[in-house]
Amino acid sequence: MTKPNFATHEVFNQSPPFENVDLFSCDRPLVEAVAAFGGAEAAKELSEFGKHWGSAAMAARGRTANENTPKLRTFDSRGNRRDEVEFHPAYHELMAHSAHAGVHNSTWTAQGKPAGGAAEVVRAAKFYIASQVETGHLCPITMTRASVAALASQPDLLAKTMPVIATRSYDPSFAPWWTKRGMTLGMGMTEKQGGTDVRANMTRAERTADGYRITGHKWFMSAPMCDAFLVLAQAEQGLTCFFMPRFAPDGTLNAIQFQRLKDKLGNRSNASSEVEFAGAWATPVGDEGKGIRTIIQMVQLTRQDCAIASAGLMRSGLAHALHHTRHRSVFQKHLADQPLMRSVLSDMALHVEASIALAMRLCHAFDRTPDDPAEAAYMRLLTPAIKYWVCKCAPPFLFEAMECLGGNGYVEEGILARHYRESPVNAIWEGSGNVMCLDVLRALSREADAAVAVLQALGEETRGLPGAGEAVGFIGKTFRRAEGERVARLAVERLALLAASAALTRVSPRHAELFAATRLAQTHAGMYGAVDLIESDTHGLLERALP
Ligand SMILES: Cc1cc2nc3c(=O)[nH]c(=O)nc-3n(C[C@H](O)[C@H](O)[C@H](O)COP(=O)(O)OP(=O)(O)OC[C@H]3O[C@@H](n4cnc5c(N)ncnc54)[C@H](O)[C@@H]3O)c2cc1C
Repeated sequence: MTKPNFATHEVFNQSPPFENVDLFSCDRPLVEAVAAFGGAEAAKELSEFGKHWGSAAMAARGRTANENTPKLRTFDSRGNRRDEVEFHPAYHELMAHSAHAGVHNSTWTAQGKPAGGAAEVVRAAKFYIASQVETGHLCPITMTRASVAALASQPDLLAKTMPVIATRSYDPSFAPWWTKRGMTLGMGMTEKQGGTDVRANMTRAERTADGYRITGHKWFMSAPMCDAFLVLAQAEQGLTCFFMPRFAPDGTLNAIQFQRLKDKLGNRSNASSEVEFAGAWATPVGDEGKGIRTIIQMVQLTRQDCAIASAGLMRSGLAHALHHTRHRSVFQKHLADQPLMRSVLSDMALHVEASIALAMRLCHAFDRTPDDPAEAAYMRLLTPAIKYWVCKCAPPFLFEAMECLGGNGYVEEGILARHYRESPVNAIWEGSGNVMCLDVLRALSREADAAVAVLQALGEETRGLPGAGEAVGFIGKTFRRAEGERVARLAVERLALLAASAALTRVSPRHAELFAATRLAQTHAGMYGAVDLIESDTHGLLERALP
């Protein structure tokens, strides 16, 4: 009797894994944006980083770290408190690789001053690449590097911690920070009754002979195995920022008690805790009563990273979509050669090209801020606008990328389902959408002249681009309206689109024109691909995105 032939086991017309690629060099818009904003000299270093993070081994670590989520060990078998979170080794390996490349500290000197040059741009390229592989571990990475900006308000503390922050070692041991080869920092602001409105914080700080004792709760405190946290608490003079280590100065376990870990939509490799401080030891960072002013220095940087990571997620979605459609045939033609699919892919490529140009332009402003007031004004006005636009664009973009892979995009073995679940968080945390719009309004009202100068400069840079002049007029007029808050989203989105067009003029003038024509002059319907690009532009965009 002949055996039945199970022909379905022969797999064909599927794409090979998108692995073992150089995630830097295969991304021309990234290479050119890095060069345009001062980072050309780092091309070799970034290519090495790109190859490493584009390897099959790193992809496997990303998958494994998300499949094996962190576990809270509140007590030991004898009932003693442990308050430890255990992570899969893959998570620790991701942390070690990021730390080794300085993603958590390379924008600072060993003394905690801005590193200067193109440090922000180069580090952002690494953050962008790493976020294409695994974003959960980047939470403590971003908080650690951003914490230095807040610690700068307390120079003696900065001087003590910086030697441990500045190393490129990742040390996961649960031990006092001053004994470790490297340290990570997190932050605790949000409470049950208020996240945006941190003035509603009820956590109390009482001065004692040896520092302060903090009592209260935090409703979201991510990366709970960080070595220390910057937390907000009410002291005598008002809301104050504190440095709260996992171990008190005498080496005993600090009274930081985790209630449980959040069960989250995405961001699953990263732990986010609910925590109580039961008289935890802490020391102030900056002046008492100036907690918001202190911690906002940190938050400004984490907002920048939210935009970079969201751009990275979109880039990954695009790269996977391009790769798959170039291998998959439908109706005797590769999907990537079907005219309608080409419209979708090239329009998505244009979106990513604008997003990375804009993110790098912002990082350039961060690089220049210490020496250039105009760049500092750009940074303050545009950071919330860019976070708003880039992060909010990511979920629908990733949905479209997933759809390019058809059913294969929707399953958990691929990376796009994970990216999709991850993508909303960057818009929600570190200041949600409306809050970013209100921040733009605040920057406008506090520094009206500087903000007008930024808008004028954007107008100059985009002169002649389709719809740019109208956009400048619209933004100015809308922001001046008495009911500014109600219409803020209208103006902030246009501000981001204008800034993206301006950023693109420095990277690729042709794509600045295309972006302005389709986004500012509004020849674009709602969905990706609902746009009329000529074939030479479509071809150019797709070749740049993935040669
Ligand atoms: C996965 C995850 C991890 C987190 N990790 C941390 C962490 O480590 N540390 C930490 O401190 N926090 C953390 N957070 C908390 C996060 O920063 C807050 O959830 C966020 O700031 C929003 O605060 P909220 O949840 O209290 O929402 P609310 O403040 O209640 O806001 C709800 C909505 O109202 C909008 N809104 C607020 N004010 C206004 C207004 N005046 N006008 C119009 N609309 C308004 C907001 O934009 C938002 O959309 C985390 C959150 C998540 C999801």
